[in-house]
Amino acid sequence: MENLAIGIDIGGTNIKGGVISSRGEVIISDKISTQAKKGFSHTFLLVRELIGKLIAGSADMGRICGIGCATAGQVDHRLGKVVFATDNLPGLSGFQLKNEIHEAFNLPVAVENDVNAVALGEHWMGAAAGLEDFICLTLGTGVGGAIFRNGSIDYGAADISGEFGHFSINFDGPLCNCGNKGCFEQYGSVTALIQQMRQSLAEGEKSLVSDLVKGDPQKINGEVIFEAKELGDALASAIVDDYILHLSLGIVGLLHILNPGGVIIGGGITRLGEKLIGPLTQNIIKRAMPKFTENLLIKNARLGDNAGIIGVVRRLFI
Ligand SMILES: [Zn+2]
Repeated sequence: MENLAIGIDIGGTNIKGGVISSRGEVIISDKISTQAKKGFSHTFLLVRELIGKLIAGSADMGRICGIGCATAGQVDHRLGKVVFATDNLPGLSGFQLKNEIHEAFNLPVAVENDVNAVALGEHWMGAAAGLEDFICLTLGTGVGGAIFRNGSIDYGAADISGEFGHFSINFDGPLCNCGNKGCFEQYGSVTALIQQMRQSLAEGEKSLVSDLVKGDPQKINGEVIFEAKELGDALASAIVDDYILHLSLGIVGLLHILNPGGVIIGGGITRLGEKLIGPLTQNIIKRAMPKFTENLLIKNARLGDNAGIIGVVRRLFI
């Protein structure tokens, strides 16, 4: 019988789950709402239910050899405990995920930070295959990061390396939820891009974006802003160029410190493909010291939504 594992990825909005084969294929996948506002004890009941459903659903397909759980927040991956999580997931801080899942299912359990899981997934089955040293950035509500060095995650002294979203690129910039000013994610997150457009429209500037979202600023997303730029819209073009400039500034800083062989960009915005990666690459090459980009691969993540559930089970098969 084939060896299988259950992969779970807990985010602020959704919990993704899947049955993954030892070859890294997603055999079954499912997605449910996190219902984060009800507190993490409630969310964890949903996680247990989802795991139970996936185990039952794969009963005649193979032998489940473990459960991997990726989660937002800072994770002690050895203890399988969430050290710190923001209020996006109230009650998650301090939660003993590994113990709780093990107690419920009596199977080996691996727990990882969600961006580390994406990096593990992309290294195993995706855009970072064959790379031993790379960084992974996920662009979304914030900017997540993971550092891969000598073929494995570089966790840092306290297991919490890779907080790329929170190094400041402007000492006098906007206040961040971490307490600092001008953090990278205040410029490089998709939220920041959308915020910039909303603010400009609120100040009376004109853009095709308003037509594309039929006047509803809540419907503005990264793709719409890029689409308006493609259509020749001046405001969207200026905002996108500024966004890519800031994104490149942050990444160039990371290149100069870490000298990775690859930069993998993940998050929903990578659906834009070359429209983002093309100009971003040009900006990075323009600003970095030449040797740092000589053999550098800058790529979109390839596994999309599935990267976390694939990556988090990798360890269970080794
Ligand atoms: Zn910050």
